Amino acid sequence: MSELKKYKELALGGNIEKSGTAVDFKTGDWRSSRPVYHPENCIQCLFCWVYCPDSAVILKDGQVTGFNLDHCKGCGICAHECPGKKKVKAIVMEEEVK
Ligand code: SF4
Ligand code: SF4
Repeated sequence: MSELKKYKELALGGNIEKSGTAVDFKTGDWRSSRPVYHPENCIQCLFCWVYCPDSAVILKDGQVTGFNLDHCKGCGICAHECPGKKKVKAIVMEEEVK
């Protein structure tokens, strides 16, 4: 088995030229599943908005209205945390069709 390279010997894999540019990168391209919103089951608890690691839950006037799919990576945390109405979730993950 060949000896593994040290991390400093590896080729550079990315280049972030300045801070505050995350919004320019549409990381939603990586998604293999997407959250689908069912407003009839939503109690507007905002758990999904609090837990989303990519700030991809869209609020309008303090209410959830959907997802920013340019940045949602499809992790499913929002669906996992969603209590829904009478235990029926308002977010369901569905396979991404590209
Ligand atoms: S699937 Fe993940 S990234 Fe997308 S909206 Fe839900 S919590 Fe955010
Ligand atoms: S977590 Fe579920 S019930 Fe709560 S605001 Fe989000 S979609 Fe609505």
